[in-house]
Amino acid sequence: MSFQPNSPAARDVAYFLHPYTNAKAHEEQGPMIIERGQGVYVYDDAGKAYIEAMAGLWCASLGFDEKRLVKAATAQLEKLPYYHTFAHKAHLPGIDLAEKLIQLAPVPMSKVFFCSSGSEANDTVIKLVWYYNNARGRHAKKKFISRIKGYHGVTVASASLTGTPVNHPGFDLPLAGFKHTSNPHYYRFGQEGESEEDFATRMANDLEQMILEEGPETVAAFIAEPIQGAGGVIVPPATYFEKIQAVLKKYDVLMVADEVICGFGRTGNFWGSQTVGIKPDILSCAKALSSSYLPISAVMMTDEVYQPIAQASADLGVLGHGYTYSAHPVCAAVALETLKIYEERDIVGHVQAVAPRFLERLHALGAHPLVGETRGRGLMGALEIVADKATKAPFDPKAGAGALAYKAAAEHGLIVRSIGDTIAFTPPLIINESQIDEMFDKMHKALDDALAALK
Ligand code: PLP
Repeated sequence: MSFQPNSPAARDVAYFLHPYTNAKAHEEQGPMIIERGQGVYVYDDAGKAYIEAMAGLWCASLGFDEKRLVKAATAQLEKLPYYHTFAHKAHLPGIDLAEKLIQLAPVPMSKVFFCSSGSEANDTVIKLVWYYNNARGRHAKKKFISRIKGYHGVTVASASLTGTPVNHPGFDLPLAGFKHTSNPHYYRFGQEGESEEDFATRMANDLEQMILEEGPETVAAFIAEPIQGAGGVIVPPATYFEKIQAVLKKYDVLMVADEVICGFGRTGNFWGSQTVGIKPDILSCAKALSSSYLPISAVMMTDEVYQPIAQASADLGVLGHGYTYSAHPVCAAVALETLKIYEERDIVGHVQAVAPRFLERLHALGAHPLVGETRGRGLMGALEIVADKATKAPFDPKAGAGALAYKAAAEHGLIVRSIGDTIAFTPPLIINESQIDEMFDKMHKALDDALAALK
């Protein structure tokens, strides 16, 4: 395609290397330029409205024009636009936010460490776990186990945790010491006649087998999203985390909950850990912490994890880890205001009130000839497109069924996410029932279009 000289599209193609984008395809098709947002809608540069069924990247929980967050940012920018938190320095937004997160934690937590992104938070988790085990004299206990299709970020270490197909090839990853256990997707991997509970037992046995093969004295931690997001919205089978955590306890392996997507109401409880029964030793969160208006993430740890770390920092003279933007005061002020809004508007109560409609409409799409499975919790859902509903056979990837549905959705004014042939929905948490109807009406039309194109 040729772009108008000096147009935003031409300049984008000329200068901007986009994340998670096929760069060559981008040179041909150019960008989709989003200009403004209002509530659950965003508008492109031609003025076309889209219902943002992904809240951006599973993150803009309060929608796209929450003025209180703008005000909170402005007030903090005017007072103290930047200060750091190294070497005993502190500021009120950071202190207040740390206190608030500890109050909100799903299990008693002791301390919070701040970063800017989910990837940095999970990198911090890895480094703190290594530091913790060194402090305890367990120098061999360093390996991390995550799951196939788990998503934990893209920095060198967090990408090693990630188990989705595109994050290792070409990057010389994963690093040594990062292992990936079975994916608990019952629809895809459950065996003929196997109950959900039996499948969960098998998943826990797989994990135990891996720990034994590696040697329990070498395995430090297991990390999981309560509900897998970018791997395709995989809701764990009944009894899964109960059984997984029994294995971890047996071999003294830490449980890390990656709440980067699930935290802050997404699954119908404040934390995804509460929805699926995780009792984390360490928890990472980001995204909806600030409704993503500014970048901020956090790692919380129990006192059992904190104490050896604190002692080691004293023995070594300093905790040699920290970011220029750790607890950035403007980001912290926006996060605090976000948490205040969640409380004042009872955002978890709202999610619980509208989730039945969301799930009812999602599951109704299961009747569509293209849809093999629908799955979800709270305001987090997905449908899986299949070539044959009876055998669950997928389309040939070359058919690009998911991409077709994604494209058709955009034509109908709906932004979803296609993960292979899975279509995900995680709208802003402020969505109402009529907007939920609008979202799924549009998706139904998009599936009809995709069906016609695939015939
Ligand atoms: N963890 C989970 C569960 C995520 O979904 C993501 C991003 O989508 C990350 C970590 C990485 O976060 P970021 O993109 O902010 O680095």
